[in-house]
Parts: sequence; C-alpha cells; structure tokens
Amino acid sequence: MIVIGGGATGVGCALDAASRGYEVLLLEQHDFGKGTSSRSTKLVHGGVRYLEKGDIPLVRESLKERGVLLRNAPHVVHRQEFIVPCYGLFQKVYYGLGLKVYDLMSGKNSVGRSRVLTREETIARLPTIRKTGLSGGILYYDGQFDDSRLLTDMVMTAGSKGAALLNYTKVVSLKKNDGGKIGGLVFVDQLSYEEHSVNARVIINATGAFCDAVRSMSNDSAKPIVTLSQGIHLVFGREFMPSDTAMMIPKTSDGRVLFCIPWLGSTLVGTTDTPVALPDLEPSALEAEIDFVLENAGKYLESKPMREDILSVFAGIRPLAKDSSAKNTASLSRGHTIEIDNAGLLTITGGKWTTYRHMAEDAVDQAAHLGGLPERHSVTRSLTINNHAIETSDAGERLHPDLPYAREHIVRAVRSEMAQTVEDVLARRTRALFLNARAAIEIAPQVAAIMAEELGEDKDWIDAQVEDLRSTAKSYLI
Ligand SMILES: Cc1cc2nc3c(=O)[nH]c(=O)nc-3n(C[C@H](O)[C@H](O)[C@H](O)COP(=O)(O)OP(=O)(O)OC[C@H]3O[C@@H](n4cnc5c(N)ncnc54)[C@H](O)[C@@H]3O)c2cc1C
Repeated sequence: MIVIGGGATGVGCALDAASRGYEVLLLEQHDFGKGTSSRSTKLVHGGVRYLEKGDIPLVRESLKERGVLLRNAPHVVHRQEFIVPCYGLFQKVYYGLGLKVYDLMSGKNSVGRSRVLTREETIARLPTIRKTGLSGGILYYDGQFDDSRLLTDMVMTAGSKGAALLNYTKVVSLKKNDGGKIGGLVFVDQLSYEEHSVNARVIINATGAFCDAVRSMSNDSAKPIVTLSQGIHLVFGREFMPSDTAMMIPKTSDGRVLFCIPWLGSTLVGTTDTPVALPDLEPSALEAEIDFVLENAGKYLESKPMREDILSVFAGIRPLAKDSSAKNTASLSRGHTIEIDNAGLLTITGGKWTTYRHMAEDAVDQAAHLGGLPERHSVTRSLTINNHAIETSDAGERLHPDLPYAREHIVRAVRSEMAQTVEDVLARRTRALFLNARAAIEIAPQVAAIMAEELGEDKDWIDAQVEDLRSTAKSYLI
C-alpha cells in the first residue's frame, strides 16, 4: 500500500495499515505536518459549534475519538478546562443547556461535567476577561494537544510497526497498467532530485488541500471534490491570559467560534474561515483576518491585544467537502469523504485532526479490499502512540530565553525524528516559529550550526538554511 501525504490523515493511514501487518510506504512532498496538520487550533474536541449546527454524527464520532486519543497518547493530549463567558441570563441558559447536551453525548468518554459559574468564579479562573456586563460563565472540558508533536510521534510509531515513511518525496505521476488501473507511482526526492518509480497494490491519496491535484494525475478531467477555507491564529504572551483555563467565544461578529487558549506558555487566539482558491504549503494570513481576530479577542479581554503584541501568526487551509448549496465555508461539514475513482485511486479528505484515526481505519479497510489484500482488522483503537519527546527540564540550557528549547531538542530531532532542515526543527519538531517568530529567527544560526555538526554539512549549507528560515518566517511576523 502507498500513502501519499504526510499529514494527520496520511500518517494515520500508514500507522493503521502497518499495525495491521500490511506493507506500507508513505511519501510526503515536504516535511511531515508541513500542510494543515501543524496549523490547527490544537484541540482534540467534539466541536461545540458542530453541535449547534446539528451535525450530531460528527460530534459523536469526535467525542469518541477524543477519548481514544486521551487514552493512546496521554503524553501529548491532555484534558483542557474551557469557559464560555456569559454577558446576560439568556447566554447562561442557552450555552449552559447546550453544553449539558455536549456532556450527555460524551457518555463514557466524558472528560468532566460542565457547570454554570458565577461572575466571581469566572473572574477567578480568567482574571483578564472583560468584566463590564459579565454575568458568569459555563465551564466545560475538552482535549488539547500539540499537533505536529503528536504527528512526529505517530510517524515514529508507524516506523516501529514496519511502515516506511519518507519526507521530502513528491509524487509527480501515477502509473496505470494496460487495463487503465493504477499500479504504482513516480516520485522525486526533493533533496537529491532523483526520480523513483514504485509499484503498489493500492494507493491512498491523503493530500488534504492538495487532493484534487493528485486526483487529476489519475483523471485529468476529474471535478474538484474540495472547497478550501483558510484559518489563522495569532500567538501572544501569557500575560494576555495568565491562566490554565481556555476561553471559547461561541459567536463572534461573523457568527463563528473564537478560541483563546493557553498553549506551551503562550496564548493562542483563532480562528477565521476565509474561502481561498488554491492550496498553498505556506499560506499567509490576510490583513483583514488579523484585524478580525484582534478586534474580536479585544472585545473579551480587559487589555486589548495590539498588532505589536503578536509573537507569531500562522495560517492553515481546511479541505472541506464541496457543497454547492452552502452559504459560506463555515457552514460546510467537517466530516470526511472517501472517493474511489475508475482507475482505483482512493482519496480520503476532509475530517478533523481529532478524527484522523477513525478516518484512517475507514480508508485502510476500503484500500485493503480494493487492493485485494488479506482482510485484517484495525488495531489502532487501543494502540499506544510512543512518546519520543524530551522533557524540557532534562534538556539543558535554553537556546533563547523566550523559548523552551535546548541543544538536546535539536540533536534529537536530527538523529531520531527525520528533521532535514532548520525549518523542520523550528516549525514542527519544536514549535519555536509558531510560538515566537522573532526568537526563532534569532536562534536559526545556532540551530543550523548544531544540525550541520550532526549531518556533516558545511558553512554554505548553514548559510542557505538560515536564509530559507528567514524567508519562511517573514509570513509569521507582523
Ligand atoms: C485553521 C485550522 C484550525 C483547525 N483546528 C483544528 C482543531 O483544533 N482540531 C481538529 O480536530 N481539527 C482542526 N483542524 C482540521 C485539521 O487540522 C485537518 O483536518 C487536518 O490537519 C488535515 O490533515 P490532512 O493530513 O488531511 O492534510 P495535511 O496536513 O494538509 O496533509 C497533506 C499533506 O500532503 C502533502 N502532499 C500534497 N501533495 C503531495 C504530493 N504530490 N506528494 C507527496 N505529498 C503531497 C502535503 O505536503 C501535506 O503535508 C483545523 C484546520 C484548520 C485549517
């Protein structure tokens, strides 16, 4: 089996297939998680918003998967306390009842029961919340994680089960046999530019926002199946929300949800839902999106965050199943879609990070059948994701006072986590670029030097890497 795409969906498929005992190769054109899977809101959640929209099956599936993830990857997924702030009795009753339904739907996967908080209790948990008109809040629980950290651990776990996972390998064409069925593909190593051809019984296209481009390699007149929607996040210092409790604002001025979440010592605020025409591996936040997040966060915080307070801004693109009757991208379903075309290419797209395991189980079931492989059942529901991270306290002296990373993190990323470039290390093995873009730029020369020592590279390599990182980091700076 070959899986194209090294995001949550593709790596999930590789992990599922390898742990069933199938032979699997995964090809990722850039680094694992370079696409949307490192750019999420970092929530393992049922999705309170989807409940309001009446998408009960998606909420139910997500709550079940939240429970699975908390059990299988407790080192990187944890329970998170949230408050929905209420300004008036109506909000207290409406959100209070809504979150009770959310509790009930969690059933045995509940991570804690919601309850109504008084104004004083709300302020005690969220000291910087806007107090004028505040009548209280609803406390509830969901899951939170570090997306690319979990992905790296999934890559390593899939590898330990026998999967071959390669980053920097771009699929450029699909090979068909005389009957017009797909029997392999051609990929190009993005570091050496060598071309390789591989055969497979079945191929899974898990390329997220890029899935239509890969579908057109199979059928050049295939109509697109995804609509793309961009979401951005702003990262601020912890002083904006000096608390371990997150805030969920169910309705901003455009009707969508805004989260303010404590994340790795910072405050993460997002997201938006802006239609975009084309996929982009390094999407940029639009000025209007930045203004929107600043304005809406400012309405709920005593001290309004300003542009100069932004430590980093990052954008990600959601592949959403096309629906011509939808009013806007926010109203499109977050459920997943599987398509098998006439040549036998299986495409899986849409869905959420939270549901990657279930999506993968579904895709691998169908792929095994399609490829005529012996039937074997998925075992990922109870498969532990190995922990490859280093505890910050054990890692030695920090490389930068504003970042929780040391030399040991860089060495580990190169030696055992397949990091090839300074960007891999600063954006996805550590989260430096997402937490504080300026600080990440400042440590890039040091990181490049440590990596060069490990990889046996020279000064030209160091210079080129630092330059590449600076150029990528520009879109994370305001
Ligand atoms: C702003 C935002 C916030 C979100 N927040 C949450 C959240 O809090 N919780 C949640 O559950 N979900 C969330 N999601 C959804 C979640 O992030 C996505 O559903 C998930 O990451 C999609 O993963 P994927 O593997 O399908 O796509 P991707 O992560 O984009 O992976 C696809 C990969 O395919 C590779 N690729 C493309 N073409 C080729 C080729 N020709 N050859 C080889 N490789 C190729 C790409 O480089 C890419 O790495 C959010 C999404 C967005 C945009």
